[in-house]
Amino acid sequence: MPIRWRLTAFNALAIGAILTVLGFALFFLLRETLISSVEDAARDRAFAAARSINIGEGLEEEDGRLVLDDDLVDAIAFDGVFIVVRDADGNIIAQTIGIPAGRASEDEVWRTALEADNPAYGTVEFSEEGLDYVYAVPVSPSEGGPARVVEAGKSYLPAEENVRDIAIVLASGIAAAFLFSVAGAYLLARAAMSPVGAVVEAARRITEGDLSKRLPVARENDEIGGLTSTINVMLSRLEGAFARLEETLARQRRFAADASHELRTPLTSINGYAEVLDEWGLEDPVVAPESVAAIRRESERMMLMVEDLLTLTRGDEDNPMSFSHGDLGEVVGEAVDAARAAASGKVAIEYATPNGGMEAVFDRERIRQAVTILLDNAVKYTPEGGSVSVEAKDLGESVAMTVSDTGIGIPEGDLDRVFERFYRVDEARSEAGAGLGLAIARQISDAHGAHIKAESERGRGSMFTLVLPKEPEAASGG
Ligand code: ADP
Repeated sequence: MPIRWRLTAFNALAIGAILTVLGFALFFLLRETLISSVEDAARDRAFAAARSINIGEGLEEEDGRLVLDDDLVDAIAFDGVFIVVRDADGNIIAQTIGIPAGRASEDEVWRTALEADNPAYGTVEFSEEGLDYVYAVPVSPSEGGPARVVEAGKSYLPAEENVRDIAIVLASGIAAAFLFSVAGAYLLARAAMSPVGAVVEAARRITEGDLSKRLPVARENDEIGGLTSTINVMLSRLEGAFARLEETLARQRRFAADASHELRTPLTSINGYAEVLDEWGLEDPVVAPESVAAIRRESERMMLMVEDLLTLTRGDEDNPMSFSHGDLGEVVGEAVDAARAAASGKVAIEYATPNGGMEAVFDRERIRQAVTILLDNAVKYTPEGGSVSVEAKDLGESVAMTVSDTGIGIPEGDLDRVFERFYRVDEARSEAGAGLGLAIARQISDAHGAHIKAESERGRGSMFTLVLPKEPEAASGG
């Protein structure tokens, strides 16, 4: 059963029970009040009449028989109350109503009062229209006379009619209140539950695959609003996580495709030379050594590339860094010495050794590898006779090193992309490698929380800067 129906049913039961109990209580209370007002009136008037008759003021003689005094009648026989005066045998001496002779004998209350010499009461059926309440008080008039008991009575009928009217009004009021509150409860429950329907519908659409959709938030401040807002936050995070996952997968696919593509070029060439040798080149004194040299060159290139690829993927697997205190100036010095030897005079490499103060926490091997990549590139992309200058600086919180060259430079549009894997500015550049060096350098820099950037002017030279924090977070965070 839907929640809104359950809420409505519960409300209906609770309200119905409360209204019924209250209705009955009210009904009995009112009925009691009305009935006892009839009895109180009869009793009070009976005593009042008895008092008047006892002091000789209640009865007077008229045309030889006793009648009730007009003043007394005015004072007590109103509002449906009637008075009957009887003698010792119960014969009616005077009365304010005309009780039929047959009916008068129905009354036994006077007898009880007379016999006990005490007031008595009871119900009598004087007419067809219902019961009358009768209260009898014995009297003994001071002036003498036959009067021995006075009765005051009142019909229950008007009170009962009132009770019936009240019952009808109460019942219809309760029924209306019940229907009204149940309808109200249903509408309220439906209004409260309506955002849930929208949320379920939206959630279904999202489950079908569209993570960019959000659940509708009808009212920010109620419970359902809070729930949907929380789910929306969760969806945003899920969407972000999925996007990142897809990006990583796409990057890996691209990487694998690029790597295979890059490896195919030297392999094709090796295969070509091998075929030549196989078919006819082995016997050719010129072609044979040329082909062998080419095969060696290409396979060396492949080996270097495979090594670079391994370095990159190992970095991807979070190969732990081995951080230690060291002097960046010193590491740069070692890399410069090696580069000078490799350049063998093609370009001049200048490095002014800093006077200490270059202490930082880093992975010595990896930083030297990054610096070496920058130096190799500078030498590689600077024509003979050019120069490369290296600088190391203390920046307070961090240490920095720059490699500037007077080489061919990098076009503005390519500057941001040179750090991407397999990205090469100009495929036709004879010196170009696989385009992995700077990607490795940036990966090392990222692992240190460092920053690496390239500036360049085409035809004039380039400058690469590596800024290394002295205390990388990765080192302290374990
Ligand atoms: P590669 O092995 O091709 O040098 P890198 O990732 O080291 O790969 O460099 C990416 C590209 O950036 C290079 O192909 C080259 O075109 C350009 N480049 C890098 N360093 C320099 C430099 N100092 N001067 C000019 N171009 C550079």
